[in-house]
Amino acid sequence: ALFVLIGPSGVGKGSVAAAVVGKVPSLWLSRSWTTRRRRAGEAADAYRFVDRSAFEAHVEEDRFLEWAEVFGELYGTPVPDPPPGRAVLLEIDVQGAAQVRKRHPEAVVILLLPPSRAAQEERLRGRGDEDATVARRLAGAEREEREGRALAHHVVVNDDLSRAADEVAAIVECHLSERGEGL
Ligand code: 5GP
Repeated sequence: ALFVLIGPSGVGKGSVAAAVVGKVPSLWLSRSWTTRRRRAGEAADAYRFVDRSAFEAHVEEDRFLEWAEVFGELYGTPVPDPPPGRAVLLEIDVQGAAQVRKRHPEAVVILLLPPSRAAQEERLRGRGDEDATVARRLAGAEREEREGRALAHHVVVNDDLSRAADEVAAIVECHLSERGEGL
């Protein structure tokens, strides 16, 4: 089974995804590749940080399930190779989710939304990005939300990390039990 968590930048997808895999042991979180530089204080394993030529070589070899350019950097999901019996969780942007839906129509897409634009902006600023980066990410949020609503099967508001993670975990467990997988 394949689950895809999407949502505008700064909504807290990374934190929610980490909390959900903590709650649902049968779920395996994919680690993306990116050409973006690591932020100060960001975990070294948040992504596989690579240069553009390494990324492009991986594209040539057709080793990404999906990839996209987001805010001027490349991001991609390696073809998943989870341990046996585990369902896969991707945390990606809306362009990537559209590609995944084409290749895997059964994928379940969950859209995470911020409780308010102000909360999202505060979160983006809290990461220490430059003003121009924050502005660019906020400007993209409306499109990400609109396109996300068109793709998503479920919408969850990240008003509180633990509550939102519980809600996403419940959605995942519901789909897994329907399919008789992993529970
Ligand atoms: P950030 O730079 O804030 O870590 O991520 C920027 C955006 O890229 C976020 O919306 C994030 O979900 C998305 N992203 C992260 N990994 C991937 C990926 O593998 N594929 C795609 N398409 N988007 C990704």
